[in-house]
Amino acid sequence: MHRIRQVVQHFSAPAVPLPRSPLSCEEVSAGAVKEVGGAKGSKYGAITPSFVASLKATLPSPAEQLFWRHAPEDKEVALEELEMVSMDRSHHSAGAPELVVYASCTEDIARVLPLCSAHRVPVTTRTTGTGLEGGSIPSHGGVVLSLFRMNKILDFNEEELMVTVQPAVRKSTLNKWLAKKGFFFPVDPGSDAGLGGYTSTGASGTLSVK
Ligand SMILES: Cc1cc2nc3c(=O)[nH]c(=O)nc-3n(C[C@H](O)[C@H](O)[C@H](O)COP(=O)(O)OP(=O)(O)OC[C@H]3O[C@@H](n4cnc5c(N)ncnc54)[C@H](O)[C@@H]3O)c2cc1C
Repeated sequence: MHRIRQVVQHFSAPAVPLPRSPLSCEEVSAGAVKEVGGAKGSKYGAITPSFVASLKATLPSPAEQLFWRHAPEDKEVALEELEMVSMDRSHHSAGAPELVVYASCTEDIARVLPLCSAHRVPVTTRTTGTGLEGGSIPSHGGVVLSLFRMNKILDFNEEELMVTVQPAVRKSTLNKWLAKKGFFFPVDPGSDAGLGGYTSTGASGTLSVK
């Protein structure tokens, strides 16, 4: 586990200040949240056009990053994207997400989460969706925050045997890269998944001890 932690990027506060969202969390809580609200009795907020507009305004490339079930344009593309993130490799039934956001960096995650939190919109995070327990199935609908595009190896400190990666770097990719330097990453749970998923599920396997 310690070794897995070593190779996964820490989602710490970004060093650079984030661009300000058009709606601060306080503003959303005070005003805009009144216009959302899920089904009667639901503890979750609904995804409304104004929520989607706020989300789009915070993202650097919304056209490539955000797909909404009820988008007036490119509905087919959105539905395909949503289908892909509605299940994992478990036997559990697929969920019905309303919207998927592809984060490309830590800052994107920090843009999406406060808004969802302020609107009480459920968020399901996923990396490569190979989990066997249904953890990445959006069983409450809402937003899927996909980290699938965060697939860069960021840093390697040979002295400290520390490699820093984004969550969707797969085991095979990391091992190909490390092999050139004479190293390998031993955790091998049988799925060639993202290191973020390995960490989150506490993945192990035959070549390592938890
Ligand atoms: C054929 C096969 C064999 C397997 N054998 C083993 C085995 O022997 N031992 C073992 O331990 N496991 C085994 N697994 C399970 C394996 O560990 C998981 O598939 C893998 O860890 C999930 O990674 P993922 O990136 O696909 O995660 P996902 O499926 O995307 O997500 C899994 C969970 O982690 C959360 N999550 C994902 N990424 C992040 C992140 N960056 N930050 C916060 N939360 C996150 C999700 O919300 C979800 O709850 C096996 C899986 C398969 C398909």
